Amino acid sequence: MHETIKDIKLPSPPAIALRILEAVKKGDASFGELAQIISVDPALTVKILQVANSSFYSMPNKVNTIEKALSVLGMNITKNIALSFVIATELNGNKQEGFDFIYFWKRAVTCAVGAELLASLLHYKNDDLFVSALLQDIGVLVLHLCRPSEYRQILDEKMATEASVFGSERKLFGVDHQEIGAELLAGWGLPETISTMIRYHHASDCPEAIRMPVDILHWSTMLASIYYGSRSVEKVQRLKAAICPRFQVNEEAIDALVDAVAQKSVELLAFFDIDPGEMKPFSLLLQDANEELRRINLSYEQVVMQAKQARQKAEELAAELLLANAKLRDLAFRDGLTGLYNYRYFQELMDREIDRATRYHLALSLIVFDIDLFKDVNDTYGHPAGDDVLRNLATLVITIMRTSDLIVRYGGEEFAVILPMTDLAGCKVFAERLRRRVEEMETVIAGIAIRITISLGLTSFEPAMMAVSKSQLINAADAALYQAKQSGRNRVGVIQLKV
Ligand code: GH3
Ligand code: MG
Ligand code: MG
Repeated sequence: MHETIKDIKLPSPPAIALRILEAVKKGDASFGELAQIISVDPALTVKILQVANSSFYSMPNKVNTIEKALSVLGMNITKNIALSFVIATELNGNKQEGFDFIYFWKRAVTCAVGAELLASLLHYKNDDLFVSALLQDIGVLVLHLCRPSEYRQILDEKMATEASVFGSERKLFGVDHQEIGAELLAGWGLPETISTMIRYHHASDCPEAIRMPVDILHWSTMLASIYYGSRSVEKVQRLKAAICPRFQVNEEAIDALVDAVAQKSVELLAFFDIDPGEMKPFSLLLQDANEELRRINLSYEQVVMQAKQARQKAEELAAELLLANAKLRDLAFRDGLTGLYNYRYFQELMDREIDRATRYHLALSLIVFDIDLFKDVNDTYGHPAGDDVLRNLATLVITIMRTSDLIVRYGGEEFAVILPMTDLAGCKVFAERLRRRVEEMETVIAGIAIRITISLGLTSFEPAMMAVSKSQLINAADAALYQAKQSGRNRVGVIQLKV
């Protein structure tokens, strides 16, 4: 393993980090020395004071000097904050060769924040947790710097398959990022507690003594991935499942922790000069998601509503269309003068009625009648008067016939009445009544009563008969009418069809 590590060019430690680590090694006596080293770097000083005064440590009084920071935070924490800044600054690059340094450090800071907050929730005290969490994946940076394009491939694979990177790392480099990170930091002189934690940060088989901090590191990456990865809800659930039963912590506490990680990370990222971007607390993200769901639901309802309205509209249109069609159809089948069915429709009606009578063994009668000497009416009173007579006659027939009977203006002054379920005897009765009623009918025009008579021809189809055709029936009725005319008009002619 070490052979391989020697092949890998490890970045040299930042000078200031070395000095800080040197000073700390000397123990409490180096208190002032550490303050001095930090104070040499004004940017670092400002950062440490910002962290000390941040809500992260919630100090009751403002910390305005490094000495004060050292006394209230303690040397270890102050040192670790300083190291964090120094190393993060040193190992920061541009977004070159496909490695997103900003993303790397953003995620690292969030891990560090997560580890710190989780430790305090679980009442676990470990001053090295923050910096360990921050630097736990430093090996990734090193391996990338070593062979960028090949390591990029490993990371892409991991993104795609969510598989562990260790196997690929070991195959390519002979080591994984845990080992290389631990080696690097140990080499830089960071305390062994830190490098050991990092060496085992993904390991389920870590030494028992560091089980707790290693678990916290693991959970810190889960906390970070809630904000930087996918399937966040599932990760929160997994976190609760891992932590709540084991530490008697309720789920609300984990919800609060998850939110706090976002809030504190935003604060801390600013000190690292990293733009936190949009890092909303998880509960707000959930709220947004629910809001979005509601909105989608709402628009779903709207869509349904619109569809309903559209359907209603369509149904209305269809009904209108049906009515219009019926009207058109009716117009096509009706006579303009009298409003009666016309000759064309008469053909259809006859087909229908003959068919029905045959099928159900019912009687069917047909009357054809014609106004007698109607030419004279027109000649005497004028054509419009003749029209009035025609209309008058139509109305009369309708009033005396059964509703099941059908009257048709056959043509000119000639009409037909179809009488379903009426045999010859019944038809004769009706025909005679009709003849008489017409005879009595008066059409008064300009004070003058116009009277007419009609001649009728009738025939019937009866159930006992063989099937009969439409033309047979019509011809027979026509012939009967002709007979009536021939025998003096104003009478009923009858032709009985043969059985
Ligand atoms: P017949 O008794 O032999 O039937 O004598 P007729 O005069 O009724 O017979 P003809 O067929 O010679 O004359 C039919 C007349 O009916 C001629 C025509 O002017 C009239 N007529 C036909 N259709 C209409 C109409 O729509 N309006 C009017 N006013 N007259 C019509
Ligand atoms: Mg006539
Ligand atoms: Mg005629």
